[in-house]
Amino acid sequence: MSRPHVYTIVALILAVSIGALVYVFKSPSPLHITSSSNKSSSGSKTANPNNQTQTSSFNKNQYSLSDPTSQWVVVNKTRPLSPVSYAPSSLVVPTIPLRLSGSQGEMHVSSVMAPALEQMVSDAKTQNILFDLQSGYRSYGLQVSVYGNEVSSHGQAIADQESARPGYSEHQTGLAADLGTVSGQCEVAQCFATTPEGIWLAANAYRYGFIIRYPSGKTNVTGYEYEPWHVRYVGVALATQMHQTGAQTLEEFFGLPAAPTYL
Ligand SMILES: [Zn+2]
Repeated sequence: MSRPHVYTIVALILAVSIGALVYVFKSPSPLHITSSSNKSSSGSKTANPNNQTQTSSFNKNQYSLSDPTSQWVVVNKTRPLSPVSYAPSSLVVPTIPLRLSGSQGEMHVSSVMAPALEQMVSDAKTQNILFDLQSGYRSYGLQVSVYGNEVSSHGQAIADQESARPGYSEHQTGLAADLGTVSGQCEVAQCFATTPEGIWLAANAYRYGFIIRYPSGKTNVTGYEYEPWHVRYVGVALATQMHQTGAQTLEEFFGLPAAPTYL
């Protein structure tokens, strides 16, 4: 290669380099434009405009309160199941830890409730909250025998405190469950409320469609002492509505008479 060609090539490289430098310094920075526009558009999420409407338009007549197949059925000491020997048509054993010390039959629940129960127990487990099923569905026949044994051992007054009369137990709907802790701590005892499981359940059950059916301080309404372990499936819509409005019992939410004792 001759010298003149080398000078030409060097001159061309210099010209291109200078041109490129001039272009870079004159151009506006696209990065800055992008980031400032992102900033101005962030943080402007709108609140759900339907929240208020949904709260005020909740339909309390959506499901029957008397039909034993209804997820809103209200069973208490003045509202027996009808018929008293009612049995759910579809019962399943939920895929959650089971406490099999009781009757095998008590490890079934209504197929209406099972998916919600399974989801709740599964989600809790991811937070190291470990539930097991102490008691689910109890048949009319089982309740006849349990209650009958209580009456013959302790008399009717004690029996009515210790167990429900046949046909009056929410467990007969298949929509109620007594939950325990896998650790065995405070099983079917009021101190369950102070365990991590009891605390989690009180705070989160409504998200899955459950209520704590027998809350603290409501014995004169429900007829039962505080049972922080007993959940009742009513569906997410009703459970959430009760949570948002602060209604603690089905009787108060639906304006039903208090049911402190049998009639
Ligand atoms: Zn129970």
